Order: sequence, then structure tokens, then C-alpha cells
Amino acid sequence: MSVHNPFLTLAAPGIGGLQPYQPGKPLAELERELGIRDAIKLASNENPLGPGPLARRAAAAALEELGRYPDGSGFALRQALAKRHGVPEAAITLGNGSNDVLDLIARTFLSPGQESLFSEHAFAVYPLCTQAVGAVARIAPARHYGHDLEAMRALVSARTRVVWIANPNNPTGTWLAAEPLHRFLKGLPDHCIAVVDEAYAEYVQEADYPDATAWLNELPNLIVTRTFSKVHGLAALRVGYGISDPQLAELLNRVRQPFNVNAVAQVAARAALEDADHVAASVRLNRAGMAQLTEGCRRLGLGYLPSVGNFLTIDLGQPAAPIEQALLHKGCIVRSVANYGLPQHLRVTIGTESENARFLTALASVLQP
Ligand SMILES: *Cc1c(COP(=O)(O)O)cnc(C)c1O
Repeated sequence: MSVHNPFLTLAAPGIGGLQPYQPGKPLAELERELGIRDAIKLASNENPLGPGPLARRAAAAALEELGRYPDGSGFALRQALAKRHGVPEAAITLGNGSNDVLDLIARTFLSPGQESLFSEHAFAVYPLCTQAVGAVARIAPARHYGHDLEAMRALVSARTRVVWIANPNNPTGTWLAAEPLHRFLKGLPDHCIAVVDEAYAEYVQEADYPDATAWLNELPNLIVTRTFSKVHGLAALRVGYGISDPQLAELLNRVRQPFNVNAVAQVAARAALEDADHVAASVRLNRAGMAQLTEGCRRLGLGYLPSVGNFLTIDLGQPAAPIEQALLHKGCIVRSVANYGLPQHLRVTIGTESENARFLTALASVLQP
């Protein structure tokens, strides 16, 4: 369609090649289409418990103040995050979701002719925000579906400005251990900004999984991103952040819209940070659900990519798009990941025990009708 768009000649360089991000189908839309009321959505890696009680109460109280602009500097939230991570407040860049921070990084450091580097099967936002600013995407082949750091290193050039690494990665659930990731980051030339996207960090239980924020002093070109959309259950409010050298953050803040994080999100995020019980309960539920889904896959004779996140990417051994459609008719929204170069895989978010059971029953019925 965009080929025939008469306004395309007026658009900035990268826009012609852009494909909009495809979000999961909203629950209400599917329920309307099917005339049902109990559809389940396991498509966007949301926390099936939603936010915890502290965040819910804080958000409700903030509704009394909707007439005022939010604090444009996000002072209280940045203060809480700085304390949590043991960094100065000036190291924190707030975003309308961490997606916003990724976009700020692209707009600050990439321009036409320069390169951004990421892995095959990596998170879809990296190619999107690269293309949007007219920069060139270099894509390193994956190894066992995960990041191949040697292949990535081989693609670093004099034009590379941003290197993106999701740890763990979505949609493959793969992760990098401290030692190889640290060595890779340390070996990058000074003209590269390294982004370690830790959207799922709270879920990872592996002993040698690194908290990349520990390397910020030693690696001045590093930006670590985190989000309140996943384990904290605040996806609808859109709040995430970057942690970096304050001088890097200062550049990102030049590009940032003054009120990019709304007032409800700011107070709910601050409350969510204090709710260790909710995070622990969410991680426990995820662990049990992961066991339930992987066991279900084994019973169905299906392979899957071992995942440390809150989702499981299942190998159907056949094109996934028709199965995704058939599951929609059973009231289950999940995601085929053909756009990630995985046409036979289906990504399923870990839900509650009953949601997982319903998904497995539906999957069995559409695979063996
Ligand atoms: C979900 C996700 C994000 C960010 O989501 P926001 O809601 O924009 O914070 C970032 N990176 C990865 C890898 C994700 O899966």
C-alpha cells in the first residue's frame, strides 16, 4: 500500500521502508468478533497478575490530579530508581515505555549512512527505530537462536553507532552470561553506544546472568534499559527507563518530550518498585507456568526454545500462522513470530495456571482436529 502513497516522496528517508509494529490483537476486539466473553490473551508478554496492590492504590490516588501536567523531570521516580540501582539521579532517562528510550537512543545517535547492529531474531523495535531515522541495519546471524557475539563483533565498522542486545531476548528467550557479554562490550570501539535491553531481567534465575548496570562505571558507552511493562504489570501505563553515564543521559534528555511519562505512570511505577512481594509472586507464578507449558509441549511432541523470560516460543514443525488463526477461533490470542524469521514458531506468554491449561487444550485440538 505504501508504494502508492503519494505523500511518500515528501517523507523523511527511512519512512518508505518502514513496516509498522504489529501488536497482538486486543482481547475486546476478538471477543466482539467471536461473540464470546472469556477469550485469553497470551500474546504480549504481560504479567497475568497485572500490577500489585501498591501500584493499583497509587494509580487510583493519582486520578485525583489529572488536571495537572506531570512532573516533566520525573524527579521522584528518578530518585527512587537511582537509589534502587545505586547510580546518580542524572543517570536515569525516563521513557513512555522502554520502547521510547530505545527510540531516543536511535534519534540521538543514528543518522543516515550510519549503522546500527543487532542479531537475527532480535527484538523488533531495533530494526524499526533504525529504519525510522534512515540509518542502516546490520544483522548478525544467530547461533542456536541466540546472540552470536563473535558474528556481531565481525560486523562492527567505523560507521557503527549503536549496538543493541536484548538480554534475555524476545522472542527467543535466550540469554547471555556475564563473562562473554562483558568481554564483548569491553571490546567495542569508543564510537559505539552499546544498549543492553533488560526488559525481562527480574524473571531470570540463572546464577551467571549479569545485571549490566554493574558495569556502567567501567563501560561509559553503555546504556541499560528496563521497563515496568513486564514483571511489574504496568504495560498500559507506558513507563520504562534507561540507565547510563549522566552525560549520555543528558543527550537523550535533549530529544525527550518534556512530559513523556504521564503522572499516573510515575506514581504507580514508584509504588511498584516498593512491592517486592508482588514481584516475587509474579516470578513464582511464571516459574510454575513455564513448567506447565514446557511439560504440555513435551506431551504434544513439540519442541520449544528454552526461555528464561515470561514467554515460551514453541516449534510447531509447520507454518505457525494458520495455527495462530485456528487458536483465535478457540478464543486464544498468541503470537506467530514469522516477522522475526521464525515462521514455524509460536510465542506464548506464560499466563495463570488456568490460562495455560486452556491454551494447551486449544493447541492440542487445533493440531489434532
Ligand atoms: C516488551 C519489551 C520491551 C519494552 O516494552 P515497553 O512496554 O516499551 O517498556 C523492550 N524490550 C524487549 C526485548 C521487550 O520484549
